Amino acid sequence: MAKGKARLSIVPLGGVGEIGKNMTLYWYGNDMIVVDAGLKFPEEDMLGIDIVIPDITFLVENREKIRGIFLTHGHEDHIGGLPYILRELNVPVYGTRLTLGLVENKLREHGLLDTAKLNVMDGRSNIQAGVFQVSLFYVNHSIPDTTGFAIETPEGLVVHTGDFKFDQTPVDGRQADIHKLAAFGARGVLALVGDSTNAERPGYTPSELTVGEKINEIVANATGRVIMSTFASNIHRLQLMIRAAEQHGRKVAVVGRSMVNNIQTSLQLGYLEALPETIIDADDVNRIDPEKLVILSTGSQGEPMSALTRMARAAHRKIEIMPGDTVVLASSPIPGNEKYVARTIDQLFRAGANVIYRGVHASGHGSQEELKWMLSLVKPKFFLPVHGEFRMQRTHANLAMEVGVEGENIFITELGDVVEFENGRARLGGKVPAGTVMIDGLGVGDVGNIVLRDRKLLSQDGILVVVVTLSKATGHILSGPDIISRGFVYVRESEALLDEANKLVESTLIKLVTDNVSEWSSLKTAVRDSLGRYLFEQTRRRPMILPIIMEA
Ligand SMILES: [Zn+2]
Ligand SMILES: [Zn+2]
Repeated sequence: MAKGKARLSIVPLGGVGEIGKNMTLYWYGNDMIVVDAGLKFPEEDMLGIDIVIPDITFLVENREKIRGIFLTHGHEDHIGGLPYILRELNVPVYGTRLTLGLVENKLREHGLLDTAKLNVMDGRSNIQAGVFQVSLFYVNHSIPDTTGFAIETPEGLVVHTGDFKFDQTPVDGRQADIHKLAAFGARGVLALVGDSTNAERPGYTPSELTVGEKINEIVANATGRVIMSTFASNIHRLQLMIRAAEQHGRKVAVVGRSMVNNIQTSLQLGYLEALPETIIDADDVNRIDPEKLVILSTGSQGEPMSALTRMARAAHRKIEIMPGDTVVLASSPIPGNEKYVARTIDQLFRAGANVIYRGVHASGHGSQEELKWMLSLVKPKFFLPVHGEFRMQRTHANLAMEVGVEGENIFITELGDVVEFENGRARLGGKVPAGTVMIDGLGVGDVGNIVLRDRKLLSQDGILVVVVTLSKATGHILSGPDIISRGFVYVRESEALLDEANKLVESTLIKLVTDNVSEWSSLKTAVRDSLGRYLFEQTRRRPMILPIIMEA
């Protein structure tokens, strides 16, 4: 693929056909840069998996070509995979101050902060990374300091939007760099790589200001404590909550580790403003009158271990829900989390709280009209819809055609697809290795499909371990068989069944020994088959059967 004259390749290594683990490779000759290094939360069938990151085999194979990783903003789906990737590839990292501030917290936890090469960018930066020249433009999103990148390549200018919306009244007063985008369009843009998250949503995404009005109204009308929960990274919304508290003479306590960390970092770096006396220690909440207190908490997604969920089931160390509390879930459930959120809301109501869980949210991603604005400003020749599931990419492609991008110039990519640009033309080239790496505890990538299949089996009908000791000399049974089961039946009520199972294993083995069968694999298979058949007949269950044969 790299033979002959160099060409520009754009390769999505994450974030297409899915929401999460965003990562895009830009490659020209001997130079590569990577935009974003995100993580994804596991799907329901990934039992026991903590997080998922992109497969970076191809980057590791080309490690000497990589000139840097550029981060658009500080959300987990853009920076969460970074520690695992820096461990393999310690290349320079670029991003805005807040983004790198959040990255620092992460790298410190992984013991990588001392060796990482972090470089702060701002609106004036122009980074030479091999043949690429990278500058940023600010956009609006649900975390401050969010940017997209303008990437100069030998084939032309590529605009990578990152996550964005156009908010005319942003909380921090920083407008999106619309004039820069228009200037790119006037100059001529080879390709746009664009956020498709809300491609299915008509109209415009409301301004975060509308959420602020709602929050203010809730705090103004509350007679007891107000407990507000949102994404720990939504600094804008946390600012609105702090402002509302100050306006109504209330103190603010913060609970939940990620929220405490993010608020601390944002206050230190100046992305969040609070009067010095506003924020109090969570240990002091019971010393403050209820009508003088706002509590900011994690748990807006009903996460089982989060502060709000623990308060809801009266399992929090410091704070208990009481009648008169107003609890606000200022977010909308991420698909897949609905049942957790619903359960938390029920528990909060049961505990006597007034729960407000609708209408205190605005998306951080632009809707259809904003996506069309982006396309119209940038006027790209080629277009790659990314950051979305397939139907979102497809719908985004249709929007692009509506505003004049040629259908044949749009590439709806899958993970690892190589889109090649040469002399003003583009085509789908080959594929590079790409996919999913699962992380479970300290293990990176050691859990694969076989382990997951076993976990699934175990979770369905449990396990039966059969232990038997055979004589080395004669092959006869010396002890056992002993059957141990977990998650299959309640042993005390199933003695008859297990006795029969025992006898069956014994007779199976005796028969094999008299037939002079002695290879362990045959013995194990025979035990597994006969026992499996018997248990299925008796119970209609198929537990995992693990024969252990010892010799003495
Ligand atoms: Zn984001
Ligand atoms: Zn994102």
